Amino acid sequence: MPKQIQAIKGTQDILPPYGDTLRTLENTLLAAAARYGYSEIRTPVFEPTELFSRGMGGSTDVVQKEMYTFEDKGGRSLTLRPEGTAGVVRALLEHGLFNEPMPQKLSYITSCYRYEKPQAGRYREFHQFGVECFGAAGPAVDAELIALAAGIFRTLGLDSLRLELNSIGCPLCRPAYHTALKDYFAARQDELCPTCLERLERNPLRILDCKSPVCSAIAKDAPIGLDYLCGECAEHLDGLKSTLDALELDYTLNPRIVRGLDYYTKTVFEFVTDTIGAQGTVCGGGRYDGLVTELGGNPLPALGFGLGLERLELVLQAGGKEPPLPPPCELYIVPIGDEATGRAAVLCEKLRSEGIHAQFDVVGRSVKAQMKYAGKIGAQYTTVLGADELEAGAVTLRRMADGQTRTVELLNFRL
Ligand code: ATP
Ligand code: MG
Repeated sequence: MPKQIQAIKGTQDILPPYGDTLRTLENTLLAAAARYGYSEIRTPVFEPTELFSRGMGGSTDVVQKEMYTFEDKGGRSLTLRPEGTAGVVRALLEHGLFNEPMPQKLSYITSCYRYEKPQAGRYREFHQFGVECFGAAGPAVDAELIALAAGIFRTLGLDSLRLELNSIGCPLCRPAYHTALKDYFAARQDELCPTCLERLERNPLRILDCKSPVCSAIAKDAPIGLDYLCGECAEHLDGLKSTLDALELDYTLNPRIVRGLDYYTKTVFEFVTDTIGAQGTVCGGGRYDGLVTELGGNPLPALGFGLGLERLELVLQAGGKEPPLPPPCELYIVPIGDEATGRAAVLCEKLRSEGIHAQFDVVGRSVKAQMKYAGKIGAQYTTVLGADELEAGAVTLRRMADGQTRTVELLNFRL
């Protein structure tokens, strides 16, 4: 026998019935965003490599180490999307969505690819639910975005997630903070990991995000960005905090949150849990007012978040809160013989056109085996269709839960 082929490390197959559970979950997320005015956008799975190197920033781990980059047959450098935002901004610019009335609110569910070490909650192919909002500069929309994520967790019955908030300033106030960080870390550069040594030159803010125990211990006493905010950034943060208070959304200020992209400005936030191990950040987002210009557009304020579906699923499992499955089979018809099978096909088709989930035997099983199968798929009703029933023009419907039966005419079949 030829050798079987295995899935690539860090990827996952979605098997039934979990595929249905996931679909229900995705619909819940998109519907929640729609209530805030978000419409779905879809962008290609691969893009020019430059989109991500510019759109995420050259000093990020993702661009430096984690991208799936390859040359196509035409010699172009392409990259499988490692995140959702850059493609959405490209599409916004390419199709002139910035000419539409503002704000533009876009949502998506998308696969992402990163060459990371696979472990619980960290995969090489994973999925994100994301939203991006363009054209709104004030803190009211930051609060609205956070409320959307918080509302989703509430709807799903998750109370283990806490909101951590920070402001990383803007191009006006960040240079002074960068200098302070550089001075602080330079004094202890002998202890930093090689990656952070490089970060010290390119973007010292990123050292705060390092997961190595030594660097994060050093980072604990580093200067705090909130102390360096300019008037406008401080006012923005105050506005956001008071709106969150009015919405009764709890948060903690965490000056260590810097987020993955280089072009974040002002607000950054994460929803974090302790229930799923080391990969506890389920949702991360913030404002990226500098990104649209970085990708060649006119200045346009923007913000968004990405919510990892696999991590969300882990939190749901940890909390015993699996979303409900779609309704199971409502009627299973057990035909006996070819004529009855033909009639069952017609009957099932009619019921389905009326919105009912109906099935009949298509593999030629015995009546006993068919009944067993109907039980296994959780059919609510079953009915046997044989020569007697065809002649009488009526069948006996059996409710599986309690065995109750009733007779229904074939010509006027209703559940
Ligand atoms: P982390 O610090 O865990 O590496 P990140 O800062 O790289 O996360 P983002 O780029 O902000 O993550 O992506 C948003 C969300 O996507 C994360 O909060 C997480 O839920 C999810 N995510 C990121 N990387 C992975 C991955 N390799 N596998 C599964 N989910 C992921
Ligand atoms: Mg990461």
